[in-house]
This record gives sequence, C-alpha cells and structure tokens, in this order.
Amino acid sequence: RRQRQMCIRDSGRMDKIRIQNLTVFANHGVLPEERVLGQKFLISAELYLDTRAAGMQDDLTRTVNYAQVCSFICQQMQQTFQLIEAAAEHLAQGILREYPLVRRVDLELAKPWAPVHLPVESVSVQISRSWHRAALSMGSNLGDSRAHLDAAVRALQSDPMCRSCRMSDYLVTRPVGYTEQPDFLNGAMVLDTLYTPHELLDNLQRIEQSRHRERVIHWGPRTLDLDLIFYDDRIISDARLQVPHPEAANRFFVLKPLSELAPYWMHPVLHRTVAQLLADNPEPV
Ligand code: ADP
Ligand code: MG
Repeated sequence: RRQRQMCIRDSGRMDKIRIQNLTVFANHGVLPEERVLGQKFLISAELYLDTRAAGMQDDLTRTVNYAQVCSFICQQMQQTFQLIEAAAEHLAQGILREYPLVRRVDLELAKPWAPVHLPVESVSVQISRSWHRAALSMGSNLGDSRAHLDAAVRALQSDPMCRSCRMSDYLVTRPVGYTEQPDFLNGAMVLDTLYTPHELLDNLQRIEQSRHRERVIHWGPRTLDLDLIFYDDRIISDARLQVPHPEAANRFFVLKPLSELAPYWMHPVLHRTVAQLLADNPEPV
C-alpha cells in the first residue's frame, strides 16, 4: 500500500510502456466536413507502471498488454468529439480506468491533416493524467448520522472516477467550537481518484447537498460534512479550497480515524505524519 502511494509521487521514475504513432482514422473536428469525411489521427502514449514482476517472471499477466491497449484506443477513438483536447481526455481517462496497473499516462494526440490552411506538418495536444490519492474526513450530528455517512461512502464507492476506497471505523466525538449541539459521528476515507482537487470538492459538496445539508451556523450541527484533508502531497490555498485542510492537524476527530488508514501520510506543510499529529492531539476530555 505504501509502495503504491510512493508510485504516484515518483511516477517520473517509474517504468513505462511506450506506444508511438498509432494511426487511427476518425471523425473528430469542429467543422462539419471533418465530421463527415473523417481524417487521420496519430496517438502516442506512455503508460507508467511497474514492469519488474513481469520482467523477472517473463509473465504477460503481470503487465499491460500493449496490443490490447492499441485496440482499446482505436475503439475509443470511434466516438466523435469536436476537440482533440476532448478526445485526449477521454482516452487518458479510459486507459487509467481500464488498466489498473497503469498509474499515469502521458498522451499525445496529433492531427496531421488539420484544416489550418497554412503549411503545417501537424498539430497535437499532449496531456498527462494520473490517479491521485486523497484523504477525506466525514462527520454528521443531525438525523440518522450512520445513514448519512453510509450514503457518502456508497456515493464515492460507486463513482467511476474513484477507486480503492477504504473507510475507517466510525467514531463518536464531542462537538468542538460550538458545544451546545449533539455528539458527532466521524470517520475518514482514503481513496484513489481521477478528479482534480476542485472537482473532488464539487463532488463532496454535491453529496452533502443530497443529504439535505443546510449551512446555518458555522461549525454548527449538520447532516453531513465532507472535508478534503490531503490530496497527494499537494498544497493548495485559494478562495474555495485549502489543502491540507487547515484545521486537520489540530483535530482529534480527523486524525484518529485517518490514523487507522494512513498513519504514515506526511503532512506536506508541517512535515509530521498523521500518527505524530494524533499523538499531539489526544482525545479531548
Ligand atoms: P467546515 O467544514 O469548516 O465546518 P463547511 O463544510 O461549511 O465548514 O465549509 C465551508 C467552505 O470551506 C466550503 O464552501 C469550501 O469551499 C471551503 N473549503 C476550503 N477548503 C476545504 C477543504 N479542504 N475541504 C472542504 N471544504 C473546504
Ligand atoms: Mg466542510
């Protein structure tokens, strides 16, 4: 498990399989002629994965079959997009979801016959996409708290953009800040996701809304609170999103359940592990 977490960060040094200039005839384009006549596209992909076991055992089942990936790409390219940006996004996501061993894909989609009306050899887009690991904190102290947390877990587990969801035990905690309110039920989840941090936040807020959450009092009672605690080792601070979550390092109710799943996850600002932060923040009396 820890090795996989490292792989996300160190994917630049991982083994890779390269596919160069797979040629596909397809109908992507903004112009009607392009969509009717079709044209040539060239796809190059670098798939980042660990090929060590396959190499040592000479075993195809321990790696990704590049012939299968090529036919997967051809098949996916038959869907029509206006933009090569969109086709590339669709391909990268498809490869990451279809081939679990692949942690990251760098993809180039070229359109050598693009209608530019100037002598150009080719135009292309290049994108790099990967699985990211996120840590979430969940809390509820209104209504059927267990049902609210269960619903959040189910929503994330059934989301095709998320996988390997692992949930902590649920934990009853006393409210902090505004204390005249019921006890909370808290939990933590670690998952792999294809969402960007902001897309993941959008989805967490959508799940909160689906449990009829209303923002009344800040830090007051709520049916469901979903916070993004960590996202790889990223540091983000803008008007909508702060990662790591600024309060996480001081909150027993975040650190305790998270320590069950990821005790050695290093806080990228404080440079202390979840287990160390928990030792600094024992259960309040
Ligand atoms: P809290 O979780 O602090 O009790 P809310 O759930 O009402 O409060 O969140 C208020 C705002 O916090 C959200 O609108 C969201 O944009 C912002 N926010 C900033 N960083 C994060 C984060 N890491 N996770 C969740 N929400 C965040
Ligand atoms: Mg919140």
